[in-house]
Amino acid sequence: MTYGGSMTFTERLNLVQAGLATAGIEAALITPGADLRYLTGYEAKALERLTCLVIRVGADPVIVVPALEVLAATASPVGELGMEICSWQETENPYALTAQLVGDASAVALDDHMWAQKVLDLRAAMPAVRQVLASQIIAPIRMRKDAEEVAALRRAGVAIDQVHAQVPKLLRPGRTEREVGLDIANLILDAGHVAVDFVIVASGPNAASPHHDVSDRVIEMGDPIVVDIGGTMPDGYRSDCTRTYNIGEPSAEFAANYATLLRAQSAACASVRPGVTCEKIDATARDILTAANLGHLFIHRTGHGIGLESHEEPYIVTGNDLPLLAGMAFSIEPGFYLAGHYGARIEDIVICTEDGVESLNHQPRELVIVK
Ligand code: ZN
Ligand code: ZN
Ligand code: ZN
Repeated sequence: MTYGGSMTFTERLNLVQAGLATAGIEAALITPGADLRYLTGYEAKALERLTCLVIRVGADPVIVVPALEVLAATASPVGELGMEICSWQETENPYALTAQLVGDASAVALDDHMWAQKVLDLRAAMPAVRQVLASQIIAPIRMRKDAEEVAALRRAGVAIDQVHAQVPKLLRPGRTEREVGLDIANLILDAGHVAVDFVIVASGPNAASPHHDVSDRVIEMGDPIVVDIGGTMPDGYRSDCTRTYNIGEPSAEFAANYATLLRAQSAACASVRPGVTCEKIDATARDILTAANLGHLFIHRTGHGIGLESHEEPYIVTGNDLPLLAGMAFSIEPGFYLAGHYGARIEDIVICTEDGVESLNHQPRELVIVK
């Protein structure tokens, strides 16, 4: 695929088949989740009953579906694809059926998010078959977004930007993080998302915990507040954006540290282009914070891929020498966190383009002073 094009489900399935053949793996087994949606458009519920896409080398893909889900599967893009649906009745063993469809095999690639119960039942049905992770085949394909996916992530970016634009008016001394969080959740839905994935409103010392949720803490004058929010759009693509707000004037120390953070985040974004490694992007942000004596307060990786999942490959982290390719989508979100005192983070979703970078978030990145 060249950057700018779009792939059909059939082309995606063909790429997985080719990847399996190259890796010497006879089949991939994909249960409900992001991989299934990516490969077939089928947004199946993850339940105890087995629904499983069986992608085989040298044979057409088939999907194993409980009898009571056949109508739902047929109504999904799986029906349009004309894919064979193998249904099973309540008293049948779907794992034996799946093993039969896989046939003679030395290895099967399993959906990374498959439930342990299903992994073990498949192992029992195919005791001699080695189980490996399907991500080795599928992640390299999913990592590079095609034109339609980039457009979907752009729409998600616009939607979450609309929410951040309204956050300052929600932040007032005397309100709790939870009250603000509820308002934000409603705005996330109003902005066009179909689900709220997370709402972090981390005020004052709570801002020092990167994955703080909300609490009953009352917002006070002078607080820095980290607001990290994201949701799922109707097409399944995710938003994720962080801005840091300050109620009234920040302390001189916090303002100086924030200025360094802004430089680090901007430099990391600007360093994105094809061929640059993921760890180099991380180092670009980290080196600037370290030079200002803030390196030890930057306690997480710089970013994560995003698409049909909030966190997916590529991870922007030390040790990941994967070179960026046009079409990759990921966050750039350095921060600093001083336990007991304060914290800050700036996060944008960016796309690596053919010759540089496109940011999908456009709200101002400067510390937002809420009067
Ligand atoms: Zn996070
Ligand atoms: Zn993120
Ligand atoms: Zn985030």
